[in-house]
Amino acid sequence: MREIKLSEMLRTIEREARFTASLTGRPSFDPRVMEAMEQVPRDSFVLPEMIDHAFENGPLPIGQGQTISQPYIVALMTDLLEPQSTQTILEIGTGSGYQAAILAQLVQQVYSLEIIPPLAVEAADLLFRLGYANIEVKTSDGHSGWPEHAPYDGIIITAAATHLPQALIDQLRPGGRLVIPVGLPYMSQELLLVEKDLRGKLHTRDVLEVIFVPMTDGIHARTNNH
Ligand code: SAH
Repeated sequence: MREIKLSEMLRTIEREARFTASLTGRPSFDPRVMEAMEQVPRDSFVLPEMIDHAFENGPLPIGQGQTISQPYIVALMTDLLEPQSTQTILEIGTGSGYQAAILAQLVQQVYSLEIIPPLAVEAADLLFRLGYANIEVKTSDGHSGWPEHAPYDGIIITAAATHLPQALIDQLRPGGRLVIPVGLPYMSQELLLVEKDLRGKLHTRDVLEVIFVPMTDGIHARTNNH
């Protein structure tokens, strides 16, 4: 049953890639990306009560008001990064750890920042148990990036930002790619692909309308601690 649901998920991603090709410019995704989508067990990253829905093509709650993203969107954003096996990638918004695991199959090293401490701890534990040795998770506000390991070959932001944070642009290597949903919280956002050319100039393209949970500044989390 699991195998059938998983292969249905992969077929749905391929179909949606074809449907959205005129917007994304990508009628199909890199076979390596699809292989990673096949290999990473999404059912390990969802809450136990959601396991029956683990291979459906939709977002699911993961606690703390956050979600694991829709599989098609994970595949699209991964494909837009054009990950290579020698690369180092920074992710903002670890959440369940699923996107980090997909990237870890494809690149050398993944660094991932999560602003909600229990989510960061749980994701790091799970990724360790699943045997991922090339992912490092830290609790931190992603707006500042993770300067210690910069520059990154690719940066992926999996929460909706109101703007493109300057620190993340600064931490992107010339020739690198950055994928980010930009727009107002709780409205649909525009998924942007930003390429930094070898001279450091940015080239930005609107890819698709998407809906993500907001990228927060941590003020809300701090208020809750009082
Ligand atoms: N990539 C995740 C889905 C993330 S949902 C997955 O594969 O499951 C978005 C996540 O971004 C949430 O966990 C949220 O807490 C986190 N987030 C929101 N604002 C953030 C910020 N400023 N810095 C880091 N993480 C942030």
